[in-house]
Amino acid sequence: MTDQDLTRYGATRDDLTALLDRWGEPKYRAHQLWSGLWEQRQPLEQITTLAAALRARLDDALPLTLSLADERSGDNGMTRKWLWRGDDGAQIETVLMRYPQRATVCISSQAGCAMGCTFCATGQAGFERHLSSTEIVEQVLRAQHASEQRVANVVFMGMGEPLANVEAVLGAIERLHRDLGLSARHITVSTVGVVPGMRRLAHFALPVTLAVSLHAPFDDERDQLVPLNRRYPIDAVVEAARDYALRKGRRVTFEYACIAGRNDSLEHAAALAERLRGFPAGAHVNLLPLNPTSEFRGRAASAARIAAFAARLEAVGVNATIRRNRGVAIDAACGQLRSRAGGSARGAGSATMEQ
Ligand code: SAH
Ligand code: SF4
Repeated sequence: MTDQDLTRYGATRDDLTALLDRWGEPKYRAHQLWSGLWEQRQPLEQITTLAAALRARLDDALPLTLSLADERSGDNGMTRKWLWRGDDGAQIETVLMRYPQRATVCISSQAGCAMGCTFCATGQAGFERHLSSTEIVEQVLRAQHASEQRVANVVFMGMGEPLANVEAVLGAIERLHRDLGLSARHITVSTVGVVPGMRRLAHFALPVTLAVSLHAPFDDERDQLVPLNRRYPIDAVVEAARDYALRKGRRVTFEYACIAGRNDSLEHAAALAERLRGFPAGAHVNLLPLNPTSEFRGRAASAARIAAFAARLEAVGVNATIRRNRGVAIDAACGQLRSRAGGSARGAGSATMEQ
């Protein structure tokens, strides 16, 4: 890597060591820099073990890849959302959710998304480009800089389909695990059901948590919500999830956006339960009330319907939780901030995010 290609969070430990060596700095400087960036998780300007002049020189030599376009906070400062711009102007969203003891970051894997799920603001706006591993990792570090609590969980539930950008995503996961010290099980990859990507993930060394966005137990209905279902129908997706669970010994989560009068009946619950009963390591269903978006005619199922749905799953031993929304007041759902800033996404957005 030439010096021109170096970035703050793309540079490896060897890159930083070589850079400081070329500058004639003593060896322990590389350790101080590395430790500050990755172990202490400090922004460069706060690594005061390095002299101010050296920090300034490093700031030039190791540019960040994301610049701030917009930022909001809500829930008494416990939820924070950023809209970043990449070098080319691509818009990227990140959400930080702080809890008393630790924090979760929801990150984007692509600017936009090509999957076109009809109820999702990101999907409605279309695909812009893939993010690099560095852009993915930088989102986590930048969010950590705004959190007193240690970021312990990372979820790929922001913009984009992570398994459609699988090499960059796996590269980012490796760095989050090795260099930032996150446990693999605390990294969740959420997919709409890209079966080849799920198989690739099953052969990846790290046992990350897999979440599968199902949303319907019947193919004709899922086709209408998730166009990718025509290519990879429910049986194929559930089968790939089953293989993942068996290979990794990890419980898989299934996400289900509850839409009033559309997929929230007890018949739907029974059909979903039938598909997931006896799932290896036990399936977990995450029920999330639909976030309304301008281009989708549908509203959230009522709390009572969602509770009855959950009870129906639990009755046959399928574990279910109801996800509460965070950050609604600051448009924390993905796609929303971008939309406010004049991007192409409209309406409310995709994820209701929780750890
Ligand atoms: N592309 C991946 C990850 C990003 S979306 C995926 O689809 O899984 C993260 C989660 O938010 C997914 O479960 C997605 O289905 C859900 N989601 C998208 N739009 C939503 C909306 N309007 N209301 C509720 N959940 C939504
Ligand atoms: Fe893409 Fe996920 Fe939105 Fe579908 S739900 S369009 S896969 S981000």
